[in-house]
Amino acid sequence: MKSFCIHGHFYQPPREDPFTGVISPEKGAGPFANFNEKINAECYRPNAELGNFEVMSFNLGPTLAAWLEGHDPSTYQRIIESDRRNKVAHGVGNALAQAYNHTILPLATRRDKETQILWGMADFRYRFGHQPLGMWLPEMAVDQETLEVLARQGIAFTILSPHQARGQLDGAGPYQVRLPRGREIAVFFRDESLSNRLAFDPELINSAKTFAENCLFPPSPPKLGGRGGKGLCLVATDGETFGHHHRGVERFLHDLLYEEAPRAGYEVTFLARYLQQHPLTAEVEIVNGTSWSCGHGVARWAEGCTCTQGDSEWKRHLRAALDRLAQEMDTLYQDEVERCGGDPWRLRNGYIQVVLGEIEGKAFLDQQAARKLSEEGEKRILTLLEAQYYRQAMYTSCGFFFEDLSRLEPRYIIAYAAKAIHLVKEATGISLEEGFKRDLRLAVSWITEQTGEDIYEEVVS
Ligand SMILES: [Zn+2]
Repeated sequence: MKSFCIHGHFYQPPREDPFTGVISPEKGAGPFANFNEKINAECYRPNAELGNFEVMSFNLGPTLAAWLEGHDPSTYQRIIESDRRNKVAHGVGNALAQAYNHTILPLATRRDKETQILWGMADFRYRFGHQPLGMWLPEMAVDQETLEVLARQGIAFTILSPHQARGQLDGAGPYQVRLPRGREIAVFFRDESLSNRLAFDPELINSAKTFAENCLFPPSPPKLGGRGGKGLCLVATDGETFGHHHRGVERFLHDLLYEEAPRAGYEVTFLARYLQQHPLTAEVEIVNGTSWSCGHGVARWAEGCTCTQGDSEWKRHLRAALDRLAQEMDTLYQDEVERCGGDPWRLRNGYIQVVLGEIEGKAFLDQQAARKLSEEGEKRILTLLEAQYYRQAMYTSCGFFFEDLSRLEPRYIIAYAAKAIHLVKEATGISLEEGFKRDLRLAVSWITEQTGEDIYEEVVS
């Protein structure tokens, strides 16, 4: 029997001012105070109320999950429950974990990859109550090292787009990717054209019946995706497609998954379940440094590319400023923890438990540290760990996604960097501000001509 799966990537970046913890009113979100509230009303809540999360594959980004947990607990609970019901019924759940801060992993150091993946897994366990089997890679950005870290941490599969594989594919998989030291990981490939049509063609998503007739019964079997034959047809797109990008589409999703796809002869499934029932189809090699939404590899989040209008030179300078700040912070942090006989990177990877409130900071250090720390030493390390938390947040990919430095998203990441600098100074007395401002001066908005330094000054004032 043919199988059909829709994966929704549900995600919002952190919007809170790191100095106050409050979300400032956002233009364009009206009548709601900010986009989280608007998108929740249009998408997360109605999809949860219709039971859509139960019949699809999904990932719920940690920063969005934390916001929902506090602001709409009943929607949050419905989403968590969806995964739990599948876990009870099938032994595996339908939720995937996500790299914690939506960092573009091929642009991150190995250590940051590990932290992002381990934090994402810990966040998942905290919310869903079991180990994740799959992980969503932000922007599907992939390289071999990222897959190695995933496999090493026990992640069984991820999702990519066909152009990220070397050579021709025959269907959605699951394919086997061989990794060094005898490790391997399974990769599902989405049907790119169907996913894009679903996301960007408003005509197509008017009615689930029309969609099923046109796309699930194609006149001649297309090469990709296993449509028309056996195997799996996999659609993967932003979850916000269903209700926010296109109003009312939560109803389409419901009708498609509960009625029209089964009527067209498809078994509606999710990826962990499909993987459990089907052997890996073939071996595949992935192309390093590719992503789903930019044809220029990962340039969109590094030096900029023609996917965005205007002069994107600011991206290169902003990233260089963040990378240098990160290096300086890491040296100070590493020295401090090693002086106390600790392992700085194990400590940082474990710190997510403190963030999630699973353990209190002092108890966490007692558990981890090789020897008893003075009260002052404990405070210093906890403050430096908090700084590391913001240092991770400053790589949130949306800061680099859009066309200009003057937008809200780059401002958020400069604010996270400012918060990290503030905490490092509090812990060590050393200010990394001057160097960071000097680097930020080179990043210039082509719209307002503001520099990164100007934005930094606004953020800290
Ligand atoms: Zn591009």
